Amino acid sequence: MASSIKLTYPQRLFLWLVGYSVLLVGCFIAFQYTREKRFKAEELNTRLQMINTYILAELEQGTDISRISLRDFHPFDDIRVSVIKDDGTVIYDNSLDSLPDKSHLDRKEIHEALAHRSGYTVRRHSESTGDSYFYSATKGKRGYIVRTAVPYSVSLTSLLDPDVNFIWVMLAVAVAMCVLGYFATRRVGQHITRLKKFAEDMESGTRISNVAPFPNDELGAISNHLVCLYAKLQQAWSDRDSEHRAALHEQREKERIKKQLTNNINHELKTPVASIKICTETLLAHKNMSEEKRDQFLQRCLLNAERLQRLLTDVALITRMDDGSSSIIKEPVDLNTVIRDVVSDHEEQAASAGIAIENLIDRPLEMTGNPSLLEAVFNNLIDNAIAYSGGDTIRIKLLGEDGRKIVLTVSDNGIGIPTEHLPRIFERFYRIDKGRSRAAGGTGLGLSIVKNAVMLHGGTIMAENPATGGLRFKISFSRGTVSH
Ligand code: ADP
Repeated sequence: MASSIKLTYPQRLFLWLVGYSVLLVGCFIAFQYTREKRFKAEELNTRLQMINTYILAELEQGTDISRISLRDFHPFDDIRVSVIKDDGTVIYDNSLDSLPDKSHLDRKEIHEALAHRSGYTVRRHSESTGDSYFYSATKGKRGYIVRTAVPYSVSLTSLLDPDVNFIWVMLAVAVAMCVLGYFATRRVGQHITRLKKFAEDMESGTRISNVAPFPNDELGAISNHLVCLYAKLQQAWSDRDSEHRAALHEQREKERIKKQLTNNINHELKTPVASIKICTETLLAHKNMSEEKRDQFLQRCLLNAERLQRLLTDVALITRMDDGSSSIIKEPVDLNTVIRDVVSDHEEQAASAGIAIENLIDRPLEMTGNPSLLEAVFNNLIDNAIAYSGGDTIRIKLLGEDGRKIVLTVSDNGIGIPTEHLPRIFERFYRIDKGRSRAAGGTGLGLSIVKNAVMLHGGTIMAENPATGGLRFKISFSRGTVSH
């Protein structure tokens, strides 16, 4: 079975280069060799033409041909001289005993001499002598053609041999081209092999980091661009993946919180509903109950119904906030006015509990926000302080403000919250004292509403027990787009 050899791209490139160099050098050698040969033949022809011209001059002066000395024509001692008339008849030949009858017009050198005054033939076999000669013919003015011929001997062959030194030079050039080509293709080859590996890694989606830069040429620039593009693509993929993971995590978290909220709501609803059911069943079963007793049951019914109502209101608010900021409409609002209104709404309730509320903010605090959510923040904090602190003062103070933020505190001088509970008080339905919270009408959602509402205003909230006692909430709000 024939196995095909698979050459790599650089190997093929190298072979092409070698083929190209060999072809180029081969063509040049062939061309130069032919030129050299022709040059040698023409050189010899020129020398013979001089002899021919000399003989013609002697003939035209009337010298007998047999008297013309051919000795001086060194190195051609055995030179053959023929005299041919322009009709092709041979009238003299120093190498023949008897002259040939056949016309010599068909001889190439004679033909050329008749047409152009001179001509030569590099090699032809003579029918008359049986030897091979180099012929050179010249036509004179009186219809004579003198033809000299040099027989092929070792010396003539070497005289006509072209100089082949240039062939070695050209072969050396070819070898040099191949060596240079080898190194050039090896460099390109290494480059292409790296690029190929990089392309395979890209295709398989392999994560690539710290790719060493490619050489500083056009191919290198293209490769570096590709690496850059791929790095950006990888970054985009990883950003997209982490965004996707974060979105998935957020969605799961929302679902978990929703589920937890549903479970907690069910649990929270059970007690007031059961209580209302028991009360109404007792009222229905004991028609002759005393009026005082009946009022007690009805009072309990009312309390539990109010608890249910508060729970439903808080849950509705929490759900609205969970749905996202898009459903919360914000508008320019003065936070100090909101605080002042909440304070005045609670003044009577606070006074009856022996608590004074002090709003120490003396200037308008313009921001972009949702008035009812901002109201919910301060309603819950003040409600809680009245219900749980046991102190006598609630203080609202501005800590600072700039073009972007408003920072304030809501504090009381009551019992505070044990430190271990502080990190969890913003969780939904997290209560420190369940009985007390329920008795105070708490739903367990107050601080979680506060935190969500603050966050929906781009802010933060933290609770601490200051050294002076009580509980202090530090709240910051982002002003939104309102200019200050
Ligand atoms: P609740 O509906 O029970 O009021 P919250 O989330 O508003 O729920 O409050 C969580 C718990 O934090 C309350 O049960 C209460 O024990 C405690 N708490 C809140 N505010 C104060 C405060 N100013 N002083 C002392 N304890 C507080």
